Amino acid sequence: MSTPSILILPGDGIGPEVMAEVVKVIDWFGDKRGLKFDVSHDLVGGAAYDKHGAPISDETMEKAQSVDAVLLGAVGGPKYDDLDFSVKPERGLLRLRKEMDLFANLRPAQCFDALADFSSLKKDIVAGLDIMIVRELTSGIYFGEPRGIFTENNERVGINTQRYTESEIERAARAAFELAMKRDKRLCSMEKANVMESGILWRDVVNEVAVDYPEVEVSHMYADNGAMQLVRAPKQFDVIVTDNLFGDILSDCAAMLTGSLGMLPSASLGLPMANGRPKAMYEPVHGSAPDIAGQGKANPIACVLSFAMALRYSFDQGDEATRLETAIETVLAGGARTADLLGEEGVTAISTTEMGDKIIEALTASL
Ligand code: NAD
Repeated sequence: MSTPSILILPGDGIGPEVMAEVVKVIDWFGDKRGLKFDVSHDLVGGAAYDKHGAPISDETMEKAQSVDAVLLGAVGGPKYDDLDFSVKPERGLLRLRKEMDLFANLRPAQCFDALADFSSLKKDIVAGLDIMIVRELTSGIYFGEPRGIFTENNERVGINTQRYTESEIERAARAAFELAMKRDKRLCSMEKANVMESGILWRDVVNEVAVDYPEVEVSHMYADNGAMQLVRAPKQFDVIVTDNLFGDILSDCAAMLTGSLGMLPSASLGLPMANGRPKAMYEPVHGSAPDIAGQGKANPIACVLSFAMALRYSFDQGDEATRLETAIETVLAGGARTADLLGEEGVTAISTTEMGDKIIEALTASL
């Protein structure tokens, strides 16, 4: 098989700073583990707008479509706030998701022991937490027609349409079942089948797909109850699958169980390509953090953990992904903290590059 390819799109703000640490990690895996990647770099977001007048060029889009995985930093910043909607940095991200048809958004919520005190919930509720939310990303109410603001009977009406086809539900459900098979084999599907027809269909299709995965224990929950259960007893879940709207809210809720935005990775996966690998983009959940950009304060861990997801889901290197996650756990257990993770008395913050160096040291110590 040819050398796997990665396109790096650092983006704006802290994007390039955190991505520089990921590049160190990629180089380490090449040097020490023989995992060679064909890495290329390009522009997205405001950086692409500054050069091309568009938040992503057609040429970059073509590259993104041809590589095995895209790694993205973050886009946006105050400099671009007044731009027309069509060329705002975020449009680059949306174009990538749409044209690559990345329909399954994977949002892990994992609590590192050393950071359990950071959660707004009690330590024993979150310690050891490890759940995965699969959010359908390309359909549902954010895309359904009709939509708009119309006038009816002399007043304005705002309309959005929740619309799902069977095949859209099926592919998201299948992605979630496949993940459950690699984890604890438990899947909870969340919708509002009590009040929404699209929810009834969602539940039916999930049950139909379940027939192909007899080992997976399936449950269904109304999404509002799901939100309550996530903050009441989050460890009851393994994989959660849900639609675009509920997933947007539930994944942010679950993410915050674990503390800082600087710790949260994500993956967005599409259909398999000719080589069997899924179309894929990996990115931290956080934005470009203009308030700390250029100061060496950003936590690179969310971006490094996104690369760990790439190792696991694009490159079939689950053991190496675990090696990287364990190295991060070790670094945190040793007391290293970027500024966003401060809180304990007597601890001073280390910089973005120092955190990256410590991760490399822990990786080397793991050999
Ligand atoms: P943000 O995620 O950039 O920042 C929110 C807060 O978290 C800030 O105080 C920031 O300093 C902190 N933070 C975020 N990531 C951090 C990290 N790695 N280490 C330490 N602290 C971190 O969200 P925002 O301030 O609402 O948005 C800023 C810009 O980013 C906007 O232009 C927004 O549109 C854009 N944005 C982009 C993405 C993306 O690229 N996926 C996501 C969200 C926001």
